Order: sequence, then C-alpha cells, then structure tokens
Amino acid sequence: MDIVVLVKQVPNTTEVRIDPKTGNLIREGVESIINPEDRHALEAALQIRDNTGGKVTVLSMGPPQAIDGICEALAMGADRGILLSDRIFAGADTWATSTTLGRAIRKIEQFDLVLAGRQAVDGDTAQIGPQVAEYLGIPQLTYVQKLEVREGAVIAERALEDGCEHIEAPTPVLVTVLSSLNEPRYPTVAGLIDSTRPRAPIEIWNGADLGVKAYEVGLAGSLTQVVKTFTPKGARNTQYLEGSPAAVAAQLIDALRKKEIRLGE
Ligand SMILES: Cc1cc2nc3c(=O)[nH]c(=O)nc-3n(C[C@H](O)[C@H](O)[C@H](O)COP(=O)(O)OP(=O)(O)OC[C@H]3O[C@@H](n4cnc5c(N)ncnc54)[C@H](O)[C@@H]3O)c2cc1C
Repeated sequence: MDIVVLVKQVPNTTEVRIDPKTGNLIREGVESIINPEDRHALEAALQIRDNTGGKVTVLSMGPPQAIDGICEALAMGADRGILLSDRIFAGADTWATSTTLGRAIRKIEQFDLVLAGRQAVDGDTAQIGPQVAEYLGIPQLTYVQKLEVREGAVIAERALEDGCEHIEAPTPVLVTVLSSLNEPRYPTVAGLIDSTRPRAPIEIWNGADLGVKAYEVGLAGSLTQVVKTFTPKGARNTQYLEGSPAAVAAQLIDALRKKEIRLGE
C-alpha cells in the first residue's frame, strides 16, 4: 500500500504567546516538534507498510526549518520526504493549506491512503484532513482509533462522543487519527544520521513545481483573514481560604452569603 502522511511542524508548547503589538505568534525560543497526532499517523503508516509492502511518503508544508520534522520522520522509517516551501505559500489559512497539500498529493499520483493527525496543536482547527479529502474527491474517515487494511479497503473504528462506530471505506481514502491509535516508535540513531546526509530522499517543491498561481495559495489564496489575535485576560478572581476545615467552611459560608447565594436551611 502506498501511503502519504501529512506532517506539520508546531511549537513545542501549549501556551502560544502572542506579540501584543503585531498580533503574531512569538516563535523565538520555542522549539519546534512534529505535531503529536501526526507521529501516530506516521506510526500507523509504517506498520501498514511493514505488513503489506509499499511506500510511505511524508508531506509537509512550511518554512525551510520544517525539514527537521521530515528528517525525524525519515529516521523513524519513512521512505520519502517532500517539503512544500515557497514564499507564496506563506500566510495560508486552512483552505489555502489544503489546496497546496492536495495539489502535491495529486502530483505524487500513486497513493492508496492519506493519513493525517486529527488536529494540529497550534492551529487547532481539525479542518485540513477533511478539506484535503474533499479536494482530492476521496472518502474520509476522521477520529480514527483503530485501523485495519484489506485488499482495496480500510476498516476503521471512529471515536464518537458516546461510543464508537466501525466503518469500511474503499481506497484511496483519507484517515485522520487520534493518539489512542498506537504508540509511535522512536527514530533510530542510524536513521537520524542517514536522514541528515545529502542522499536523504527529501525533495523541496515550490509553487512552480505544483503548477499553482500565487493567487491560489498562501495569504492571497486564503478565504479567511485573522483580524485580531490576543490572549484573553483571566476574568476570574481566585480567593484562597486558609485555616482549619471548620474555619474555612465558616469563611466559605460567609463569602457565599455576601454574594447573596442562598444556602439550604
Ligand atoms: C483564519 C486563519 C488564518 C490563518 N492565518 C495564518 C497565517 O497568516 N499564517 C500562518 O502561518 N498560519 C495561518 N493560519 C494557520 C494555518 O492555516 C494552519 O496552520 C494550517 O492551515 C493548518 O491548520 P491547523 O493548524 O488548524 O491544522 P489542523 O486541521 O488542525 O491539522 C490536522 C492535520 O492536518 C495536517 N496538517 C495541517 N497543516 C499541515 C501542514 N502545513 N503541512 C502538512 N500537514 C499539515 C496534519 O496532519 C495535522 O495533524 C491561519 C489559520 C486560520 C484558521
């Protein structure tokens, strides 16, 4: 089975800091990592390839430093890495990002399965997987926590709010995965060394390689615009009560009475 895995480089923090003047993310001093769920998507791809044969291609869109994530993916065992990097891709919203990734997958041509994380920890939209599937005109299975492949089909268990469902879909198909799917392997030392050598199979594709016009991608091709980005100020005042349990209980009752919250008689 030939598999394309979508991998995004994200800041290694859940506390995204924003420059109050420019509204841009402060990336200085924040290490970049592969989006956590994408590592699970890659692990699933590697297991399927190891069992059924085929090839795993890792695809990422981002600035030149996103190549680090591709190197790590190759060190984990991926066969080929492609970075989509061009100034015209900058400032993309999810629509423009999906268009660019979709064009690249069409250029790859031979694929049975596209795997992605459910959601990136920085953008947090969970839109890319479904939008790429729509762009390619293939079925999509989201929130997948178990995955099996058969001849010409995949069978997935999808997590729902109050249970789960089993669905079979013909290939080619796009699947977005949850971290409960598997335990990602670590990159090997030999793999890390190999991935940084010039012979490492990493290709860098720009807009011309994809045959896209500047107005179709990046900021110009985006349907949405960020008007303002800000960190919400904490609106709650926390008051700590101290003393013995009886004293704390008395203070709590007093505080609730002052707020005119009626207590049971
Ligand atoms: C309104 C809006 C405006 C934005 N403007 C900008 C901007 O000006 N500049 C900017 O840098 N970003 C911008 N972004 C963020 C950028 O669009 C997103 O990072 C990108 O579209 C991915 O969306 P996400 O992070 O929410 O991914 P999700 O949909 O949450 O990601 C799901 C999965 O899709 C795959 N994936 C996502 N992104 C990539 C990628 N780049 N390469 C490979 N795989 C990927 C991964 O497998 C990931 O786990 C904007 C986002 C929005 C919503």
